[in-house]
Amino acid sequence: MAPESPIYTSTDPELFRVEGTTPVLMGSRCSNCEISFYPRRWICAVCMREVADVDFAGTGTLAAYTYVATPVYGRKALSGDGYGIGQIDLDEGVRVQAIIGGTSADWGVGQRFAARVAPIGDVEDGRQAALYEFWPDPSP
Ligand SMILES: [Zn+2]
Repeated sequence: MAPESPIYTSTDPELFRVEGTTPVLMGSRCSNCEISFYPRRWICAVCMREVADVDFAGTGTLAAYTYVATPVYGRKALSGDGYGIGQIDLDEGVRVQAIIGGTSADWGVGQRFAARVAPIGDVEDGRQAALYEFWPDPSP
């Protein structure tokens, strides 16, 4: 019998939550300036008006990347000898830095990426701690 799927749990619920197996990055948007912020904030950094909480789509374009040839800190499982770090320009206009999946042969500046849940550590009491990372997005 296959084990039940764990419940993915955000390691930082102020930055993102997990809906099923989809990480949702939680940002803010100023309707006056039409700019977004991540992490969330209460007032706009430009006009000082209140901003609204928004959920980001978790998709964007790779702006820069590197490969770190050392084991990742913590208990995240890795298949290779290191991992990629990318700067992703989210569709909401915010740049984030995150682990990127795949190998450097899979990456290119300007390429579309999408967020995925990334398990970290072991399942405990049916719950799986999770980060988010970005992977090349095959959808158009
Ligand atoms: Zn503003």
